[in-house]
Amino acid sequence: MAMTSDTPKRTYFLPGLLSLVGLVVLPLIVYYLFFWVEPRYKGVAFIPEFDELFRIPPPTPRSMLIFFSWLLLHAVLQVIGPGRWREGTPLADGTRLRYKMNGMFAFVVSLGLFVGAVQLGWVSPTLLYDEFGPLITTVTQFASAFSLFLYFFGKWKYPAEERTGNFFYDYFLGTSLNPRIGSFDFKFFMESRPGLIGWIAINFSLACKQSTMEHGLTTPMYLVFAFQFLYVADYFWHEEAILTTWDIKHEKFGWMLVWGDLVWVPFTYTLQAYYLVHHGHELPWWGTVGIVTLNMAGYLIFRGANWQKHCFRLDPQRPIWGKPAEYIATRHGSLLLVSGWWGIARHLNYLGDLMMALAWCLPCLFESPLPYFYFIYFLILLIHRERRDHNMCHQKYGEDWERYCDRVPWRILPYVY
Ligand code: NDP
Repeated sequence: MAMTSDTPKRTYFLPGLLSLVGLVVLPLIVYYLFFWVEPRYKGVAFIPEFDELFRIPPPTPRSMLIFFSWLLLHAVLQVIGPGRWREGTPLADGTRLRYKMNGMFAFVVSLGLFVGAVQLGWVSPTLLYDEFGPLITTVTQFASAFSLFLYFFGKWKYPAEERTGNFFYDYFLGTSLNPRIGSFDFKFFMESRPGLIGWIAINFSLACKQSTMEHGLTTPMYLVFAFQFLYVADYFWHEEAILTTWDIKHEKFGWMLVWGDLVWVPFTYTLQAYYLVHHGHELPWWGTVGIVTLNMAGYLIFRGANWQKHCFRLDPQRPIWGKPAEYIATRHGSLLLVSGWWGIARHLNYLGDLMMALAWCLPCLFESPLPYFYFIYFLILLIHRERRDHNMCHQKYGEDWERYCDRVPWRILPYVY
């Protein structure tokens, strides 16, 4: 059913209710994982009781100062930092938005400032470890308030955009695709800058904490830090590839993305490093070699596939692995690549991402399931995402998509799925 601003509210009662449940349950999952990893349980599984709710840390002046200075710093870097301008994919009306690519600049400068402040003794190296809990609350509250702003802003500035009319559903998923003030694009900014770079800043603090407790860093901590640093640095190195991703092209900007970018990513993707603070084990050399190989193979597939699609969409004449690109020309006008990585499986980029996700968990060994939370969550997310993408492409390309599926039958993992 098409969504319009006139659609009766009752039509979306169930999605609205599910959104409301998500608004309550998702933050509780983050607190649960935090309680699970922090010193009281140190990764030992426990069944949460009602009383745990009273242990949710309130914001502190320090956590508020940290978050708002970080957010402001990134907003300023986005606006004044030097960067190339790139055009996004065509919107429904045929126009294209322009985006300033200066993420690598923001990454280097903000982390440089943080590490510099630690070196100069202005900031405690373990600050983000110490404020981890209060920061979750501070950022969650900000994300909720900011999403409310986006809800009204979207309705006011983009009245023609489709929405359901159910408050909770629209608040959860957003009321506009590309909310902007001038050329400052809220979604593009929040997708990466404060949260993704914050993830690495938190990892740094967690590594410092381990270093003070264990009188040095363990190999697993080095691995987790290095792998995740590479992942984020790579993101900024290829920042413009985000312009052709699902989030930018199709997802409206509401609580789900705001909270996901600002809370979920930095406070759950750091679980492995947090777990290692209190688990100072070492790895056999062959384990280290195996994990590094897994991560780098995953990286090669992930980056290779994403970049190949991005370059192909910009210039279909560009050779793929030394040969002319093979593709299906759709009636819709777009070209579907069927050679290179995209001829092996329809979402090999997801496979590469999952291999890296596993490589981030394995250094924690097998005493607790907690560090594997990321891999399991990500596996579910990407399987669901692939199905959603498949349905959408099928709707968009019809028979051409079916031809593509016949030619490339595997979804994510060749010969398995
Ligand atoms: P993709 O980058 O795979 O984009 C899918 C889109 O690409 C489709 O909707 C279609 O769009 C186009 N497309 C599909 N097949 C082809 C083809 N054969 N040739 C050309 N274009 C094609 O998906 P995502 O945006 O979901 O993911 C991007 C990356 O981000 C992935 O590597 C993923 O693993 C990662 N990711 C990471 C997350 C994290 O939390 N770490 C979360 C989510 C994703 P069109 O309409 O243009 O044809």
